Formats: sequence, C-alpha cells, structure tokens
Amino acid sequence: MKGAFPEKRWVFPPRAECEVKVCCMADVKGVLLSAWEKMLVQRYGADRVAKAKGALTAEERRYLPLFFLDSNWYAFESLNAMRKLTRSLATRDEKNLSFEIGRSMAQGAFSGAYRSMLMKDPIKQIGKFSQITDFFFREARTLETQITGDRACVIRYRYEAGAAPNRGMCQSLVGFWSQVLEMAGAHDVSAAHSKCILNGADSCEFTFDWR
Ligand SMILES: [Zn+2]
Repeated sequence: MKGAFPEKRWVFPPRAECEVKVCCMADVKGVLLSAWEKMLVQRYGADRVAKAKGALTAEERRYLPLFFLDSNWYAFESLNAMRKLTRSLATRDEKNLSFEIGRSMAQGAFSGAYRSMLMKDPIKQIGKFSQITDFFFREARTLETQITGDRACVIRYRYEAGAAPNRGMCQSLVGFWSQVLEMAGAHDVSAAHSKCILNGADSCEFTFDWR
C-alpha cells in the first residue's frame, strides 16, 4: 500500500487560525484515527457511517480523507470531525463511547505495525508511556507517570497555556491507557479520572490499578 498514492494527496490545507482554543493542541497519528473509524464501521455498519459522513459540513469532511494512513500525522481538526461523526451516529444509551474509542485506538495501534512498543509487563509498559505519547501525538501537553504500587500507577497530563481537553478526550484516555495496560498483561484494570483540568485542577490525573 505504501507509496501507492502520491504523498501530496493527503496533505490538508493549512490550518485556519483557531477560534476554539482546544483545536491548536495536537496532531495525531493516522493509526489512531483509522482504528476509531473501523470501530464505527463495526458498530454501526459501513452504510450508516458513509451516510453520516455525507451529512457533515464540507469543512468537517475536509478533515476526513477516504481513509487515514497509519503513519501520517493528521491535524487535531480530524479528531474533531471524527467526534462530530461519532456523535451523529451514537444513541443516548451509549454512555461509554469515548472510553471504548480510546480502547479501540490502543487495540488498533498495538495489534498492528506498532506491536513492538508493547511490553509483556505492565510496570515496564508504564516506563514507555511517554514514548508512546510522543509517537502517537504531537501535542501541547506533557505526560508524567508515577508508579504507586506493584499494580498501580498514576498518570498526569499537564496542558500548555491555551490548550485544554474536552470531556470526551479525557474519557478516551482512560480507555486508551487501560487497554495498553491490559495488552501488557494487566488483568481487571480499574481506572479513575481523579482530577480534571475541566473541574479546575492544575492537571488531568488518572489512576489505574489491576490484578
Ligand atoms: Zn480531564
């Protein structure tokens, strides 16, 4: 597949000046977006997804290519467009959808080409969290990890001035890191979003423990 299309075809127009502060914060690797899209197709069917895409605005569709290339970087606006697409498909009962999106992203990333980033030990895996973050996100936030027990850790995201997450993103991070820990051998991972910038905390803090 690689090299089958000219690179140029996938370069999006330069980003407009951001009005929503959150939109400046990140670029994301295509593999996470393609995992997200696959999850939607599995859940709602290709026809409904295609129809929902067609109902987005031209501006939103601009950030959703025919398919995402795993190793390419995509602007944060693609995440926003995917979120909009997801919202148009989801029902009110699907409360944990962002969490499941995060899980699917980790599943997609680490069951394919990037499998080598997966350790066979959850504690060793935590040592790779920062590296994973740098590999999959270019963003205005930093990640700190702290091992708090034999089977427990805390992670904190600090956001640069002017950048902030939204609720869905925080929830998808819970899913993403829970899934990474499980893939590294942790069982029965339980997670909590113990502090959130959106509630006035100085960082977004997540706690994880497992058996
Ligand atoms: Zn948060």
